[in-house]
Formats: sequence, C-alpha cells, structure tokens
Amino acid sequence: MEEKEILRESGFRFKKQYGQNFLSDKNLLDAIACDAGADGMTVLEIGAGAGALTRALAARAEKVLAFEIDRGLMEVLSKTLAGLKNVEVVFRDFLKEDLGALEKELGSYLVCANLPYYITTPLLMRFVEESQSCRSLTLMVQEEVAQRFCAKADTPEYGAVTAAIARRGEAKILRKVPREMFFPRPNVDSAVVKIDFERGGFEVRSEKCYRETVRCAFLSRRKTLENNLTAAFRIDRVTAKEILRAAEIGEGVRGETLSPERLGVLSDVLFDKVFKKS
Ligand code: SAM
Repeated sequence: MEEKEILRESGFRFKKQYGQNFLSDKNLLDAIACDAGADGMTVLEIGAGAGALTRALAARAEKVLAFEIDRGLMEVLSKTLAGLKNVEVVFRDFLKEDLGALEKELGSYLVCANLPYYITTPLLMRFVEESQSCRSLTLMVQEEVAQRFCAKADTPEYGAVTAAIARRGEAKILRKVPREMFFPRPNVDSAVVKIDFERGGFEVRSEKCYRETVRCAFLSRRKTLENNLTAAFRIDRVTAKEILRAAEIGEGVRGETLSPERLGVLSDVLFDKVFKKS
C-alpha cells in the first residue's frame, strides 16, 4: 500500500506547525537518496514523516536512523517501514538531541532530509558548528534558502549563514523541486542542496573568532567593515585600519563584499591582534 493510502486509512491529520509536507514520487525520492550518496552508508534522516524518503534511503544505505517528532505517525510508519531491517525510527525532537553523543553512536555518517522549514537554519548551523563525523548534508529546503546557502559574495543572498557553511565545505544546489511534488502543497518551491564537508572548506586559527568575524562583517550591511569592527570588537579606528591592512582589505570596504576565505584571513588577524588578548 502507498504512504498516501496508509495515511488516509489511519485518519492522520497533517500538522502545519511541524512543516509536514510529504513527498511521494518514487523517482524523485530515489534521486534524492542517490544525490546524498547513500549507498552502503549510515544515514541520519531528520523528519521521517510517512517514511517515503526513509524507504528510498533504506534501499541503498547500510543503516538508516530516522528521527520524527510526531508520535501520531507511529502507526503509519510501522506499516510503511514494515520488514525493513536496516531502519530505526526514534520519536524525539531532533533539536533536543546531543549531537556529540549521537555521533559517537553513528561513526561516519551522512544526513539526508526533507526538512521542516521552521528548523532549517538552526538545524544546519548545529551541523556546521558542532559535527565531527558527518560527511555531508543533502537537504530539501525552500528554494530561496538553498540560494542563500550557496550564494557568492556581494550578492543580496550572501550572508552570515553562507560564510559559516563555506568554512566547513562546499554547498551546491542539485535539483529544483516544484511545490506540486509535495502533499499537502506548500506555498513555495523547494530545492535539494548538498553541503559536502569533504570538499571545499578552509582552516582558521579559531572557529569562535571566525564566527565573531562573520557576525561583525554582517552586523550592519550598509556600514563599512571598519565601522563594524570598531563597534563589534570595541577597538579604536587606528587599530581597525591596521587590522584591515594586515588582512589586505581596502579601506571603505563593506563586509558583505568579502569572500568567506577573505573573512577567514581577517579572522586570523583579529585572533592575533584582539581576540587572544581579550
Ligand atoms: N521525510 C518525509 C517526506 O519526505 O515525505 C517527511 C518530510 S516533512 C517536510 C518533515 C517531517 O519532519 C515531518 O514529518 C515533521 O513531523 C518532522 N519534524 C518536524 N520537526 C521535527 C523535529 N524537531 N525533530 C524531528 N522531526 C521533526
């Protein structure tokens, strides 16, 4: 029986607050599992829903661990995932999980999820900032959010999230998915974005200092970086100019025009001249 039919039979009522927009197209689901590189891997899925993506992942992966916040889907999932020996479903709020403890259990793994819109950015930032053994994240997100994740410097989409992701890896939009592919149908189109921690990325002397540098660069988008530096790091103009010169950044530049790599250079200078001393 198809997921849609099982949902209908069980009298399931969709909960908007959990971002419950499900997928059913088997070709699309398999393409997403393939995009993720799920073959023979341990896969973490966040938001199992009625289990459609879980099934597609299970057909390729060694093991799938899926989280689902809504216990009202227990009965549905027991039917849609019946007989799949490599799937475990945990009915908990993923945002409350201890990622470090979970990673000890999982070892090397990848994430694949059709994410509920309301947790996209906080969830992604947890992986970007905390994960140690995650190889990649393949996420279905709102199209405009996907564009923000992959944006180039000095574009309206470029922001603190883009710079944070770029330090860890390479972000790419793999496919656009129109709203008609979901049920119930959302008001926006989506895209599958892959953040690959094994490609791209760069080292900085202090991750904390890089986070502060990025925050400072986008503090007030219309102000110059020099102004933002004096405000964010409580330094005088002479020191701010000296820091910019050491990072080979021209005067009058705005933070949003700098590539993530250049923000990394600035972060290392700030680390030596300001951060380490405070
Ligand atoms: N994977 C399914 C699919 O593709 O058809 C469902 C995707 S649906 C967009 C998102 C799912 O995430 C919903 O089933 C929702 O209940 C669940 N969810 C929402 N917030 C969650 C959270 N904090 N932790 C775990 N699951 C969550």
